[in-house]
Amino acid sequence: MNLAILGPPGSGKGTQAVHLAKQLQIAHISTGEILREAVRKKTPLGCEAKKFLEAGQLVPDAVVLEIVKAKMHEPTSAGGYILDGFPRTIPQAQMLDRIDNHPQNPHPPLEKAIYLEVSDEECVARLSERRTCPECGLTYNPVTHPPKKAETCDACKAQLILREDDRPETVRNRLQVYHAQTAPLIQYYEGSGRLVKINGNSSPQEIYKNIINLL
Ligand code: AMP
Repeated sequence: MNLAILGPPGSGKGTQAVHLAKQLQIAHISTGEILREAVRKKTPLGCEAKKFLEAGQLVPDAVVLEIVKAKMHEPTSAGGYILDGFPRTIPQAQMLDRIDNHPQNPHPPLEKAIYLEVSDEECVARLSERRTCPECGLTYNPVTHPPKKAETCDACKAQLILREDDRPETVRNRLQVYHAQTAPLIQYYEGSGRLVKINGNSSPQEIYKNIINLL
């Protein structure tokens, strides 16, 4: 099964994508996480992407598309995948459809785009509370998913941080970018009968149940 998950920053895409990937035994392809790792490791991709990530702006379509294509062709994606944070613009969605419909593409085309609907105010509030592990990228929330030891990553014991682009001023930029460039994808996928719309305001467990029911 090939899926994508859409929604504003802070809507819970990452959390749901991780659960869905585990449950459906498909690969989790998070463009944001791949880009952040490249920035951490100071690779050429990371050096190119850094300024966009820090400003809450989108990395150019062509750069992101190459990342996604490479991941889709890895053996771990053979049984399907969930795209988290991609596509984020209409041209990215069109490029994905072109890849999907190419005669040499080994994968079935994207079946469903799950859209998590959450208000801007809720996103700003959630992201200002979110803490991230600078080593492995795991995220925590003081209420819905606290770490076992305060401010410490359960997995690698690193001190948790507030991600630079989770600061309220950058989140507002990211939300503007989301409304201008990503929200039109809702109609794009609705028009092709692939949209699964989910209320993203309940608990992560409730949201997950609703997604599974609607899939
Ligand atoms: P995310 O973790 O999905 O919120 O992504 C964090 C940041 O990575 C975004 O604010 C963008 O700068 C960049 N990014 C992630 N995915 C994409 C994409 N599909 N297109 C362009 N930029 C992206």
